[in-house]
Amino acid sequence: MKFKCIALINFLVLQCLAILGVSKGFDFFYFVQQWPGSYCDSDKFSCCYPTTGKPAADFSIHGLWPNYRNGSYPQNCDPNNTFNESEISDLISSMRRNWPSLACPSSSGESFWSHEWEKHGTCSESLLDQHSYFQTALTLRQQTNILQSLKSAGIIPDGGSYSLANIKNAIKNGTGYTPWIECNEDSSGNSQLYQVYLCVDSSGSNLIECPVFPEGKCGSEMEFPTF
Ligand code: 5GP
Ligand code: 5GP
Repeated sequence: MKFKCIALINFLVLQCLAILGVSKGFDFFYFVQQWPGSYCDSDKFSCCYPTTGKPAADFSIHGLWPNYRNGSYPQNCDPNNTFNESEISDLISSMRRNWPSLACPSSSGESFWSHEWEKHGTCSESLLDQHSYFQTALTLRQQTNILQSLKSAGIIPDGGSYSLANIKNAIKNGTGYTPWIECNEDSSGNSQLYQVYLCVDSSGSNLIECPVFPEGKCGSEMEFPTF
């Protein structure tokens, strides 16, 4: 009886914390995808194709980042929960296709995935263990076909210039939600489409309108480089 009572109290406390939104330690996720052409064609990074070969000319995952409504975010939340590739062995082939690393030196992605899990993933570990975290990101990638949304609006990676407003509208029409666009600069200093941010609720299941947008500026026109 005493044991049941304690279990019930624990359950009620957890429910109250969940309703107050304080149990998970974050408010929502940014789901961030990168255009490989802009990672490679930039003045900031040099890029190296993965050991498994040149990735597809498509948006790929950068990360799924727990965030606070005030714009700040937690990071490196649990040094004891290090990346363990054996927990995601069934996801590796999909990870290589959808979450390649373009950083140098060439790798098959493990160091990028490990960085993302340890910096960001550990901050939502109360909700998503390693397998669920990577699976959630892969599912979101399948649900949001950014390249298709852009192509449907005539926006293609041909090195041409496109307006920020048209890019955002196209992604909104395709996904149902307004994205945030991050630009970087190509080697000649032109603004180009680098990353697309969409927001996901704190359960990791549903896209939502972003409670807050990151900082940073794009020009009103930007290049969409080939890859
Ligand atoms: P974050 O922005 O998630 O905190 O850090 C990204 C880190 O992952 C950087 O240290 C970067 O060097 C590394 N990284 C490895 N591969 C990639 C990649 O393909 N794209 C990006 N954006 N970063 C990568
Ligand atoms: P607005 O409030 O008119 O949407 O945007 C205000 C400022 O933010 C403008 O300078 C506009 O160019 C910029 N902006 C709007 N949307 C985005 C976006 O998705 N990414 C970036 N980097 N800037 C944006």
